[in-house]
Amino acid sequence: MSLHIVEEANRCLQCRRPLCQEGCPVHTPIPEVIRLFREHDLETAGAILFENNPMSAICSIVCNHGSQCEGHCVQGRRGNPIHFSSIEAYVSESYLGRDMHRIVASKAAPNGRAAAVVGSGPAGMVVAIRLALAGCEVTMFEQKPKIGGVLEYGIPDFRLPKSYVERYRELLVSLGVRIRTATTIGGALKIEDLLRDGYDAVFVGTGAWRARTLGIRGQARGNVFFGIDYLVNPDDCETGRNVAVIGVGNVAMDVARTALRKGARHVTLFSNWGGVSASSDEVEFAELDGAQIEYGLSVVAVDEGGPVFKRSILAEDGSFAGMGDETVHFDADTTIFCVSQVPKNKLLLTTRGLEATDGGTLRVDENGMTTVPGVFGAGDVVTGPKTVVHAVAGAKLAADGMLRYMGISGS
Ligand code: SF4
Repeated sequence: MSLHIVEEANRCLQCRRPLCQEGCPVHTPIPEVIRLFREHDLETAGAILFENNPMSAICSIVCNHGSQCEGHCVQGRRGNPIHFSSIEAYVSESYLGRDMHRIVASKAAPNGRAAAVVGSGPAGMVVAIRLALAGCEVTMFEQKPKIGGVLEYGIPDFRLPKSYVERYRELLVSLGVRIRTATTIGGALKIEDLLRDGYDAVFVGTGAWRARTLGIRGQARGNVFFGIDYLVNPDDCETGRNVAVIGVGNVAMDVARTALRKGARHVTLFSNWGGVSASSDEVEFAELDGAQIEYGLSVVAVDEGGPVFKRSILAEDGSFAGMGDETVHFDADTTIFCVSQVPKNKLLLTTRGLEATDGGTLRVDENGMTTVPGVFGAGDVVTGPKTVVHAVAGAKLAADGMLRYMGISGS
């Protein structure tokens, strides 16, 4: 591993216009980090990565590098791109492990401001870390028993070991963040209660946890799950040997690979067009694990024996152009729907003045502030389902907006 990443770092051309950095949604200063790595200055490299992206250790594992940093690297034009994700994983992991005390020591003196962070996924973690480092008193509220959001309950542990979430929990606690799990804001407590109780600003990063339904017959049957719910606790879901997965995005790939690890013998994913929306890496892993993909089938119902499809009519480019008449029945013990998610609407229903877009996501301005003064948002609840690094980008913007709103200088 170390030999491999040293070789990779030595191949870097230190481009004056680093396309790798342009391809990264949070513009990680990749050449600088590689230079410091070559100079054996892991501490500074780790500090730069963490300052730019507190979730760097996680993004180095779960990002779609092939379409971001590595997909843009000039070395990829002639051969293999610099495998920066391996370098980033090494540097960030060791920084979090070895130098966590330095992060904690860099915390500013208390500034007298208090903030509530609702939701503890990547966006909530980034905001909590940034505000705590700026000297705010931060309380994090999480509906589920453990923090982490999609990192704990959405990404399977064979892709992201749960020890990473634990590492971040330790960091948050060390930074003085108070964590209230199993507490729903929008239930017994509302955002108005948070503002009444002295929080100067509130961050909402509650994700997109409501499965999108297709409105077809059979989705309420006992042999059906929604992928986002299935991933929360797959051990409690009895799927049988034959599993049909409706959808071909990254969640669908995670569901397929999880089902195969939990005892399913045959897992088939269904695309209603001629392609997939998941990243190529995830598709390759799913196929390597034994999943099969069927194309051009549009689900129209689920019955006791499994999903029922109509064969799709495809345009020349493979896109969906309609449904034909032919009906296809597929035998499956369980059908799992993975056709996207939307935010739950608890906060919208319980917070006066909080507005959503037509798509059901939180409406925010250029500072990440919602339509309620002092209440900010980022992550999937604002963008709809996206990746961890996109949540980080939004969370950085919202954290800066919150600091400005609270009148904290330097922000
Ligand atoms: Fe190095 Fe590739 Fe980035 Fe150039 S584009 S600085 S070679 S990682």
